[in-house]
Order: sequence, then structure tokens, then C-alpha cells
Amino acid sequence: METTSPESALIIVDLQNDFMPGGPLGVPGADSLLPLIVGRLGGFSTVVATQDWHPPGHGSFASQHPGAQPGELGELDGLPQVMWPDHCVAGTRGAELVDGLPLDRLTAVFRKGQDPRVDSYSGFFDNGRRGDTGLADWLRGRGVRRLVVVGVATDYCVQYTARDAATLGFEVELWLPGCRGVELQPGDVARALDGLRSAGVEVTEA
Ligand SMILES: [Zn+2]
Repeated sequence: METTSPESALIIVDLQNDFMPGGPLGVPGADSLLPLIVGRLGGFSTVVATQDWHPPGHGSFASQHPGAQPGELGELDGLPQVMWPDHCVAGTRGAELVDGLPLDRLTAVFRKGQDPRVDSYSGFFDNGRRGDTGLADWLRGRGVRRLVVVGVATDYCVQYTARDAATLGFEVELWLPGCRGVELQPGDVARALDGLRSAGVEVTEA
């Protein structure tokens, strides 16, 4: 049991209906995360949820690229882009945070992915670093120095959020039991974790 420190924040990445098994971009096992994450809320005075929040027809959707199949690698405005199924369209049920996540325990929600021409895996920046969500300044303004990152998907939005946080100078822990990955290619999660460890992220397994 950790003690609550004003310097520590829990970052819950994209715990949204469309990423749950059965959803259009279902992450295997993601439906098992809620009780684990809720069980840790008491340890943090600052809890942030990120929320993927796309306009209809977002450029990351395979449906916007003639002939593209979900899961393929393509390009979006000059950047490599995985073609995703339509997901997390702003205002839809699929974009809502999962039922059971106590919204009154969230200090803030940061939305991302609203620019149709660039994807946003990280809770801090879009994939081209053209836009900044304001999360880093907001955390610093609260005196937060240490982040514990959980959510989905380990090999995409969790990875990018944790890496950016480390690059920005935060002390970062990725709590592995609270994360699940997509694994479009076998080994994607292991490679993501190796890269994060190299970037100075502490990956904890219990
Ligand atoms: Zn998305």
C-alpha cells in the first residue's frame, strides 16, 4: 500500500468502451483492468484519465483510406500510420470512459486525437508533436514529479505516454498489471517495454 504523495499522479490511459473486448478496437484482457486500477486510486491525490476523442472520419481510420485494411501500416500527412478501425468518435458511447471508473475520483480528463490529420497516441503530444494537450504543464502546476501509468494499449498509447513523460523529465513507473497490449505483431509489447526501460521508465510487474 503506497502512501498518498502530492508529488505522484496516476495516469489512466484510454480506458474507453471501444478498447474493451468486443469493441471495434478491443484490446485482449482490457476488461480485467478496471478493478485493478480502481484499487489503486486511493494512493493518489492526482488522478488523470486520457480519452481518445476523434472527429468522425479521422485520418487514422482505415475507412478513410481507399483499399486499406485495419492493422495495415499506411501514411497520414507524412507520418507512418497504423490503419485502425473506426473507434472513439467524439460523443459516442464507444468513446466514453468505461462504466465503473469513478468519475468523481478523476482530477482531470485530457482528450486527444481531435486533429483529423494526425494521430495522438500520447497523452502529452500528437504523433507529429505539432500539438500539446497541456498535460505536462498542468501536472507541473500541481507539483507532480512522479507518474504511474496504466491503461491501454501497452504497445501504443501507454508506451507513447510513458515515453513522453520520461522525456519531459517526470519520474515514470509503468505498472504492468494495470496495462494490456494490442500485439498487432507478436512481441510488440516486449519491444515496447524494452524501449521504455531504455528511456528510463521503471516497469513494475507486481
Ligand atoms: Zn485513436
